[in-house]
Amino acid sequence: MNLDQQQQRAMHHVHGPALVLAGPGSGKTTVLMSRLAYLISEVGISPQSILSMTFNKAAQLEMEERCNQFLKEKDRHKIRFSTLHSFCNGVVKDYEIRQRRMLVRIEGNDRGAGSRQDILKHIYRETNKASISNDELEELMNEISVAKNKMLKDFDQYPYRTKNFPSIYKAYDQYKKTKLLIDFDDMLTYAYHILLKCPDMLTAYRRQYPYIQVDEGQDLSGIQFEIVKLLAGPCNNLFIVADDDQSIYGFRGAEPDYILTIEKDFPNCALYYLEQNYRSTRNIVELSSKLIKYNLKRFDKNHRTSRDHKRDPVVIQAKDEYEQLKCIVKTIKKMTRKKAEDIAILYRNNLSSVAIADMLLGNDIPFSIKQNKVCFFRHWFVQDMVAFLKFALDQKDTDAFTRICFKMNRFLSKEMVEHALCSAYRLSVIDGILTYHELQPFQKQKIGDIKREFRRMSKMSPVKALRYIEEVFCYFEAVKEYRHSPGVSAEYLYNLFGILKTIARGCSSIIAFLGRLAALEDIFRNGQSASCGPGITLSTLHASKGLEYDCVLMVDLINEEFPGIRCIEDMNNGEGTMLEEERRLFYVGMTRAKEYLYLISPKTKNNRAMSRSQFIDEVLACKKG
Ligand code: ATP
Ligand code: MG
Repeated sequence: MNLDQQQQRAMHHVHGPALVLAGPGSGKTTVLMSRLAYLISEVGISPQSILSMTFNKAAQLEMEERCNQFLKEKDRHKIRFSTLHSFCNGVVKDYEIRQRRMLVRIEGNDRGAGSRQDILKHIYRETNKASISNDELEELMNEISVAKNKMLKDFDQYPYRTKNFPSIYKAYDQYKKTKLLIDFDDMLTYAYHILLKCPDMLTAYRRQYPYIQVDEGQDLSGIQFEIVKLLAGPCNNLFIVADDDQSIYGFRGAEPDYILTIEKDFPNCALYYLEQNYRSTRNIVELSSKLIKYNLKRFDKNHRTSRDHKRDPVVIQAKDEYEQLKCIVKTIKKMTRKKAEDIAILYRNNLSSVAIADMLLGNDIPFSIKQNKVCFFRHWFVQDMVAFLKFALDQKDTDAFTRICFKMNRFLSKEMVEHALCSAYRLSVIDGILTYHELQPFQKQKIGDIKREFRRMSKMSPVKALRYIEEVFCYFEAVKEYRHSPGVSAEYLYNLFGILKTIARGCSSIIAFLGRLAALEDIFRNGQSASCGPGITLSTLHASKGLEYDCVLMVDLINEEFPGIRCIEDMNNGEGTMLEEERRLFYVGMTRAKEYLYLISPKTKNNRAMSRSQFIDEVLACKKG
């Protein structure tokens, strides 16, 4: 590849600190790669002396792969590619070996006993005498992350939302200390303190890696920046590439300000700007550049492109969520000249992926799902619905029955259920209840009805059966009262219900529907549909960072989802920080597209009218202006 002059200047930077500040698709990552080759082949720096850091595992692997393509055989696999977290984890491990004391890592998405979620749920309950909902738990974890990443000592100025956050934070830290546990965020704080406390270790790392490169520098948090600074000193051969407009991890403590004021820490820092966008058509570059100007807090950059005008980005408003799915499939099928892997469907929330995956599966379109964290299939609500349907098909299914017996508004008592589960019955658990000696005649009548109701349900289409659970068993009423259910908002449950109904529409029987759910769950577990080859990419906008596709479909672009409800509340309170971050995320999505960009929203969802994302309005205004 022939690098342009600006890129070459950056690539030839060898000693001292440097920052490359540039927009999407301008070749920041390309410059990092080329610089690696230059340092090794031209300057004669040993590949083992270079530490190349990036933000997430996927980006790290991609960098490694791309780099190995152009390095000589003997130099391959010698450069250390790492995420900041895994590097810090290594520092902690080295320290553990030296101290002969091992810590237990609690990280990942594990939700089971002893997981981070589990511990925090417990501490929250102890502190606030109430259970914490999944959304609140997510928020608490982010708040802890932010506090750690910003290295906060006290919380006086910290705008946390979690009730009694300081006490929970301290109790959680204390718990981990006594049990010798360490979580994802601690890896950073531990590594930082180890490097400060053990100068010999710091010197060893510095000797090992006299050259450090960092991609996606805008997502560095305070503590990460301090760690990089420590490692790079005193020679400061530090080369960072960044785009403040793509900073999308503020909610976890990323602070692009460190990069924008880098000269405070490195007064002799060389600054490079890349202005030519090599990725996207002129239409996409111009439109996205106008959109990001809605953000007030940013470093303004020039974005040029030598690529031609081609198709304008397309804004589509579908009648409802089903029409949106049809529209996605239609658009993909139109891309006859593109390979499936050139197409990506991007969404704000992981949950959007379930119905899309179902639709693609139904249309035999191969796909893979990136960094998926969908807990849809394991969610208690979905499991309840599955249990209702399973019980309808088999009234002897005691597992299903135990799950739903108090959620069907049929006034069954604990004693009746226990009696039934212990008694011998032939056709239905309900028969077991009918043998309970204390039943009044009117109760017998009502309980007998349950049997008939489930039998009726078993013959229904899955859509009708789901509606029956909602309308006849009044499930939503039951779980409102259900004291053990974590306080997930009704809104969220209806959302899950909507997804189930969407999937159910494509299935003629309950058996087919349950089979379909199982097949989808399998795909989500494996990250890929059964077909060979990678297929279309389904990804959250966050996980799409740094990547590019010929055709990008951004979907579910509705207010309350994107920007999210919290963000809108914040905005109404005169706070624009979250909105700016959401807009950057929208911008990241748009700038993944090389040629085709579709912005799609449904007008209604779950029969509720939706307003299209305010970012679409802004895009349309930019188009006109
Ligand atoms: P992002 O901000 O999204 O991470 P980036 O600045 O890292 O983008 P790259 O991914 O390095 O950009 O490059 C974008 C695309 O432009 C890639 O397909 C790359 O191969 C191509 N590219 C970069 N520089 C040049 C060049 N000088 N000539 C031709 N193509 C180029
Ligand atoms: Mg990049």
